[in-house]
Amino acid sequence: MDYFTALDKASPRVSVRTLGTTGMGRPFIAAFIGDSAVIADLPKYREIQRKLADPRTRQSGERASLIANGKVVVLVTSSIHSTEVGGILTPTVLAYRLASAEDADTRSIRQNDLVILVPSLNPDGVDIVHDWYQSSLGKPWEGSGPPVIYNKYTGHDDNRDWYAFTQVETQLTIDSLHNVWHPEIVNDIHQQGPRASRLFVPPYMDPWEPNVDPIIAAGVNSMGMAMAWRLTADGKTGIATNASYDAWTPARSYQHYHAGIRILTETASARLATPIDLSFDSLGGGRGFDPKVMSWNFVAPWPGGHWTIGDIVDYQTSATWALLVQSALERGKWLDSFARIGERAVEGRGAPGREDWPVAYLIPTSQPDTASLETMLRILQRGQVEIRRTRAPLTTGGASYPAGTYAIFMAQPYGSFAKALLEVQHYPDLREYPGGPPKRPYDVTAATLPLIMGVHVAAVSDTLAVATSAPVAPIAPPKLEVQGLSGKTSRRIAIYRSYDPSMDEGWTRFVFDQYHIPFTSIVDRDVRAGKLHDRFDVIILPDQSPRGLSRGVTRAYPDSLKGGLGTEGAAALADFVDAGGTLITFNEASEYAIEALSLPVKNVLAELKSQDFYAPGSILRVTLDEQSPIARRMVAQPAIWFEEGPAFEITDASKATAVATYPDAGNPLLSGWLLGGEKLRGRAALVDVEKGKGHVVLFGFRPQYRAQTTATYPLVWGAMLGWPANADR
Ligand SMILES: [Zn+2]
Repeated sequence: MDYFTALDKASPRVSVRTLGTTGMGRPFIAAFIGDSAVIADLPKYREIQRKLADPRTRQSGERASLIANGKVVVLVTSSIHSTEVGGILTPTVLAYRLASAEDADTRSIRQNDLVILVPSLNPDGVDIVHDWYQSSLGKPWEGSGPPVIYNKYTGHDDNRDWYAFTQVETQLTIDSLHNVWHPEIVNDIHQQGPRASRLFVPPYMDPWEPNVDPIIAAGVNSMGMAMAWRLTADGKTGIATNASYDAWTPARSYQHYHAGIRILTETASARLATPIDLSFDSLGGGRGFDPKVMSWNFVAPWPGGHWTIGDIVDYQTSATWALLVQSALERGKWLDSFARIGERAVEGRGAPGREDWPVAYLIPTSQPDTASLETMLRILQRGQVEIRRTRAPLTTGGASYPAGTYAIFMAQPYGSFAKALLEVQHYPDLREYPGGPPKRPYDVTAATLPLIMGVHVAAVSDTLAVATSAPVAPIAPPKLEVQGLSGKTSRRIAIYRSYDPSMDEGWTRFVFDQYHIPFTSIVDRDVRAGKLHDRFDVIILPDQSPRGLSRGVTRAYPDSLKGGLGTEGAAALADFVDAGGTLITFNEASEYAIEALSLPVKNVLAELKSQDFYAPGSILRVTLDEQSPIARRMVAQPAIWFEEGPAFEITDASKATAVATYPDAGNPLLSGWLLGGEKLRGRAALVDVEKGKGHVVLFGFRPQYRAQTTATYPLVWGAMLGWPANADR
């Protein structure tokens, strides 16, 4: 902050703005850097970008002059992942060089580009990791990760929020930068593990999400290869392209649906800021290349050696510089292709390759849950999607829609964003080799909001024979409230937090805070101390591996943070349930509970290989036992978020009941990718186990997945409200 404030004061080429405040109260800043004449006249360039983005806003004949006068807007974002510590320092080096150097390349960048530099997309995490690292210096655990997630709520998932927009840092970036400045190019600076490439730059591996305009895919490929070429010519080794990272989920790439290319760079890590030594023989772990063998997408192997934070900053700075030099060289082409993407978008299925797109999506105003409808529409509006309303009743596709139904036409600048989030995903059946195990996606495979939010949506392929309104004004935030839990509640709720941090724990807290449900965070020593039923009615174990829960951190670490729940914790949880408490477990934590509390339930997927069963973030169909108290608050058709979860067989039906069950026949897949779906037939996805005077509620999925699956939140509310006998205690 001090450095960027000083730079702003010292240079007319730099303007630093505070966009807002982070989740933990720190300033969130962006530095605008370019020629002093550009920085002095920013509104002019913002207006050029606005008109180039949307052809409907232009006068005829205006296009050429806009391109002639515009600048390529390059958004450089850094250190969203706070343990990737080079990314905290690189922006200072970049800003200084951009503002002060007078060589030909730097002048060209300033003349042709407007650079918007976000030194950190997660400033809270910068301080969390810094404080932990300082405390670890000279200790056996120097360079290890902190015992908490490095953000108020999300940790590493903070860059999986680029369509749900749940977090304040995401909202600031979207509202103040993407939607205002429409960057043609986004360079997102990250770090990866230490042993594969020194640096990854695109092209990405397959698959590409099919709604992304091909001009964007081609632009990504071209820019990544140009960067690799420049870096190699400058003597850099160990650069991989077309490796490890794919371009599937919109959760990581807002810009791919908003006419901008995403250039992800991933530099090899050290141990936070502590150097490491890597022998050539120890290199490995590349996906799509071998770090010890020259290949077309890894042209110059790195020989191994000492690797420091200085090396990280050097690679990150050099990669960004290569991108900036290249973007400046082809200023006109970047602006022209940016405009062309917008022109194709407003043609909808008139554009080549989109002949089979729907004309529009219709969304009835009457839905099982109005708050979910409003949440979904607000996501689309934040993504710049225009939502209209029909002016008269309409019958199409055998269904009738009253006047006032929401209509989202695909022929609009960001129609592809709406389509990607409203339709079902068909992930390709990719294998490591023919007949081999599935090739895992970099993130998840589904993003169908209507399914996970329980909102009815219909795609319309015929011309919509009805008049529609102008785009509706921004929809107000819904009031999120759970009767009996929000505000003052008699239920005493605890959420377990491990020192081996679980992002799902953070998401759980976020959802509870959204709904104003009070809770207490508890750690290992609280659980091990026992007498839990004196303090709580409900304990939640968020998604975490059974090993992580029982043993905690097993590497070198402070003694006070080691040990996990251990045998004492397991016994205390069993006593808690026997005494009348409700233990709720999400996803893998359910496997822990089955084992630790000797429950009469078995995970039937435990022994299966990925060839036989695989569902890496998919949406599945289940049927609900509506008589169960756990289901009492459900309103929508249940569709669950399944990601490496268990599926249950009940071994003693007198003690356990299936509350949600996979269908007996057919394929339970609703969206994404599922191999071996028949393994789920008739198995339970949610089980209520009676034990002593209490209950254990085993979720074989994540009912509050990344604060998106609002359709299954009510199952958590139902479990927390207690059973009829003690619901009014
Ligand atoms: Zn990262």
